[in-house]
Amino acid sequence: MEKPVILRWTEAHRFAFRFKQRVVRAMVPIRTQGAYLLLSGENPLYIGRSDHCVRSRLTGHPLLGIATHFLWEPCNSSVRAFCLEAFWYHRLAGELGGLNLIHPASPTGSGLSCPFCSMDDEAGLTDALRRFHAESQYASVAGTRE
Ligand SMILES: [Zn+2]
Repeated sequence: MEKPVILRWTEAHRFAFRFKQRVVRAMVPIRTQGAYLLLSGENPLYIGRSDHCVRSRLTGHPLLGIATHFLWEPCNSSVRAFCLEAFWYHRLAGELGGLNLIHPASPTGSGLSCPFCSMDDEAGLTDALRRFHAESQYASVAGTRE
């Protein structure tokens, strides 16, 4: 008789990578938009994003040698990168070691406002999803014109 397979669910965790230029080059593709979180050990230190290339942003980051680890999330648009950065910013407010004193800026020329400044997480995420949906519709319409 075969032993049964038992699945156990555990709390979700993310991997953080050592914050070294060679590790960033190995783990982050070039010309990828996204948001990132820098850590000092297990403590959040700084949140940022790049609307052009996370890899370039991180390999030239002023906190290289200070932050010990990083994690990042690729995004397919600057709107998504901004929303993710803002979400992390609000979730980690007060835990960022005083380095993120200024709220994340919206993408240049977008005129976007942060969905989490005036709403709780759930309402903010709903608003962000609405923006992504509108953005996707615009992208598909724009794509048919080319
Ligand atoms: Zn905000």
